[in-house]
Amino acid sequence: MSNRLMQGLSLRHAYTPSSSQERSDFLAAHPCAACGKQGMYVDGDPGKERRTGAVRFLAVAMKCVCGFANLVYVINNDLKSGVSAREALAELDRRGLLDDSELTRQLVDTGVLLFLGNRGEALEVAKRCANEFPGSAAAHYNCGVLLYEKGESTQSLRYLDRTLAIDPAFTAALFYKGLAHRAIGNVEAALESAERFLRFHPSHLQAKELARSCRQGYSN
Ligand SMILES: [Zn+2]
Repeated sequence: MSNRLMQGLSLRHAYTPSSSQERSDFLAAHPCAACGKQGMYVDGDPGKERRTGAVRFLAVAMKCVCGFANLVYVINNDLKSGVSAREALAELDRRGLLDDSELTRQLVDTGVLLFLGNRGEALEVAKRCANEFPGSAAAHYNCGVLLYEKGESTQSLRYLDRTLAIDPAFTAALFYKGLAHRAIGNVEAALESAERFLRFHPSHLQAKELARSCRQGYSN
């Protein structure tokens, strides 16, 4: 992925429109990370405006005709009075709160490889990413999920535990911990992870099924 294609992929590289027309134009011209097509989006959800420091931004989910869901960052500051996008970003950068470009690139690459069905290469990129960025919960989570799906549940658990150590709010790791524990026969640990996950996501069907199958495992 070239640097030109980093545009829009993170807060550091976000679009900074100065009018709502310019914002629409930026989004329409944004290339899909998976197929490279522009303006071929079938669905979009701008979500709610979020804030980090003085930066006010949207993470827009845009689904391409190819099926890939792109997440595109747009900073709203220049549409409003107050701190300009440039100043607000510079302040975050000074405080060390902006994403690392290389980390963003590797996370997007992992997502695209997965979407394209290239799980082997996705795992390689994810492992390299976790290695280079030991503080990235997302990088460790990707490794955990891919290793579980590959049948390497013991290794998977190491990455999932690390994910939660870095970021206890990364609750998706709990669901995969449940699956990985069950796969290696740790029914009690599987149930505990599933129940912890269900406290955050009580209507998640697969997690409910996981918990149910663990309880049955006990009674059998
Ligand atoms: Zn596409």
